[in-house]
Amino acid sequence: MEEKSSVRPPPGNAIRLHNEPWLLTPGPLTTAASVKQSMLRDWGSWDGDFCELTAELRGEVLSIANASPSDFTCIPVQGSGTFVVEAMLGTLLARDSKTLVLANGAYGKRCAETLTYLGRDHVVLDKGDYLPPRGEEVTKILAADPAITHVVAIHCETSSGIQNPIEEIATAVYESGRHLLIDSMSGFGALPLRCGDVRFDAFVSSANKCIEGVPGFGFAVVRKTVLEASRGNSHSLSLDLHAQWEYMEKTGQWRFTPPTHTIAAFVEALRLHRLEGGAPGRLARYTRNRNSMVAGMRELGFETLLQDDWLSPIIVTFFNPADPRFEFRAFYNHLKDRGFIIYPGKLTVADSFRIGCIGRMNEQVMTELVAAVGDTLATMQVSKATAPAAALREREVLAAR
Ligand SMILES: *Cc1c(COP(=O)(O)O)cnc(C)c1O
Repeated sequence: MEEKSSVRPPPGNAIRLHNEPWLLTPGPLTTAASVKQSMLRDWGSWDGDFCELTAELRGEVLSIANASPSDFTCIPVQGSGTFVVEAMLGTLLARDSKTLVLANGAYGKRCAETLTYLGRDHVVLDKGDYLPPRGEEVTKILAADPAITHVVAIHCETSSGIQNPIEEIATAVYESGRHLLIDSMSGFGALPLRCGDVRFDAFVSSANKCIEGVPGFGFAVVRKTVLEASRGNSHSLSLDLHAQWEYMEKTGQWRFTPPTHTIAAFVEALRLHRLEGGAPGRLARYTRNRNSMVAGMRELGFETLLQDDWLSPIIVTFFNPADPRFEFRAFYNHLKDRGFIIYPGKLTVADSFRIGCIGRMNEQVMTELVAAVGDTLATMQVSKATAPAAALREREVLAAR
């Protein structure tokens, strides 16, 4: 894409502007200084310069997904990630559709809940917190229920950090003659999701995850023939992807007030993404972050919820130590004092916490974090971070199934 200096934010790739803590979270996350600096300008929402930013972001997202602009389009939608998930489901699922939701955590469950709100028929394959939905079981369910038209899958289930086998799922869905919609909120931009490798009708992601922008909008990448056929499906005026697309194609503008500063920040974040070598470059850094962090935490005695095969390089769940002197709130506060914000657990069963590997940070930060965790355990007089035996037993039993 051509560089347009008149609308460019200032260059620079320094890490932090202030002495703010590292956000070891799945978004909002730590962003580059130049991303933050690019928000220090006001934009007219229908001015040509701003429309250029919108066009650039739409084109660049398609190119990261290896999606040809003749077959696919990118439609940004105001709001957090959940808004664009709802927009995708409400727009692309016809009122008489039936959807199989593949759930293994909170975000899969949220998709099912959204379908309940939308009044769209659905069934749920619930795999609990530990296990991925596999292609074979998807094939079986689809064969047994010819009424199912669509499957919804979560690429990386951020509530546990499990990386679901999306290629295998996509193959099962299309071999069964059905359609796949993907929530790749916390995967896109780092985990591989390229047209040609994975088949889908649409996927969604948002500004503040692996592209390392700030929150304020999400985006859908949709096969054009599918989108064209979806006119009139949507239950909602503001979340109608088809209407947003039609208007954007016609005018280059957003239908309603866009988060202008967030979009300028996203365009700068996309430039840094390109400089890092695109999704493969980013995946390599996140993988190094995870590997050094997980190795260090295991050395302290912590146990991951997931077995190595399913650990994503996005976020990792650890069991709380069994030692009664461990208390999450105090642990959190100590780490915050040391400059690290971690994330509480979101499991349905065992007590846990999460550490994100994404955002503008590297292995050095992870090494410092592990040292801070070690000091914190010492302060709390927890000599070994071993998980409760019951949690480990349950993990073994479920994994063996
Ligand atoms: C972050 C995320 C979402 C959206 O969450 P918001 O809080 O609405 O931004 C949806 N699905 C997954 C898998 C996510 O990680």
